[in-house]
Amino acid sequence: HASVGTAVPVTLIPGDGIGPEVTNAAKRVLEAAGARIEWHEHIAGKQVFLAGNRTGVPQETLDSIASTRVALKGPLETPIGYGGKSANVTLRKLFETYGNTRPARTIPGIATPFSHRNIDMVVVRENVEDLYAGIEHMQTPGVAQCLKLISQKGCEKISRLAFEVARAEGRRTVTCVTKANIMKLTEGMLKRTFEAVATEYPDIEAQYMLVDNCAHQLVRSPESFDVLVTTNMNGDILSDLVSGLVGGLGIAPGANLGKHAAIFEAVHGTAPDIAGQDKANPTATLLSAVMMLRHLGQFEVADKVDKAVALTLEKGPRTGDISGDQPPCGTQAFTDAVIANLG
Ligand code: ATP
Ligand code: MG
Repeated sequence: HASVGTAVPVTLIPGDGIGPEVTNAAKRVLEAAGARIEWHEHIAGKQVFLAGNRTGVPQETLDSIASTRVALKGPLETPIGYGGKSANVTLRKLFETYGNTRPARTIPGIATPFSHRNIDMVVVRENVEDLYAGIEHMQTPGVAQCLKLISQKGCEKISRLAFEVARAEGRRTVTCVTKANIMKLTEGMLKRTFEAVATEYPDIEAQYMLVDNCAHQLVRSPESFDVLVTTNMNGDILSDLVSGLVGGLGIAPGANLGKHAAIFEAVHGTAPDIAGQDKANPTATLLSAVMMLRHLGQFEVADKVDKAVALTLEKGPRTGDISGDQPPCGTQAFTDAVIANLG
């Protein structure tokens, strides 16, 4: 395959558990598809913690991401008893990846209770504020308190990101989802800021919805959603719900976007129950790599990989998590099939 143009440096972190298997699949498929990428492979996660580094991410890995500004990573494990915080939190804080985007769309061939619906949406979740600062204390011996921090800056950045995602993908509507009727100051801050930012994007329709109603509507009429933007905890819950609508963890891709870097990774974790057994579904990582290719402006290669993955999922063979009553295939065999379907 002829590669046109110069290769772009990208940091590759294989990660833990099934990470090396699924990231290797992505590397093979992107290479076969003619992606113009120069991989800079670095470690993070379990082995780094075990070697005594309490952040889980060595300096050379941080330096690499700081210079490439783009990474594809596998899931990372924080061994119990090591490190104050997870390696993922270290990366998120250092590179200020304030936005987590998770696209979800109906994939022909994957059986779910929603298979007959035409789902195609993106959840944009604020990823550094809200209740996730982990600031908790006991008010009295019987009463615990957790701080919910929401800044106007944070609301502005995540709102703008949602509209930019909509524009970049030719989408029509952005729906802001909050619990502003109860938490008027914190959740209300996103609602008010969103409405102000929306005026800068007259080409895109801005909608607003309460989160409980949104959960209900996502199940009743998932095809009516386009881009959702929401605070950290609402987003945590809704994005898992949305992944579930279209087929689960094995196929759910994601991106962590920030000022200093864009880090692409599957939604799933290390899956220790199937690690090293050639059983993992690499689709989530392959689709994360497709998002990365689009981020890099390599649209043709992205479309090629996207189509090959869709075709493979439709025709089979499929990995055990989504094979239904068909015999499952391994990670490698699935990857070979995707490469054969690059066309
Ligand atoms: P972590 O603590 O690392 O987030 P977790 O326990 O939250 O991990 P996962 O590691 O994502 O969850 O796994 C949950 C279940 O989904 C496991 O049974 C796992 O085998 C399965 N699973 C996750 N990812 C995949 C995949 N890519 N292919 C097949 N099965 C998967
Ligand atoms: Mg998990």
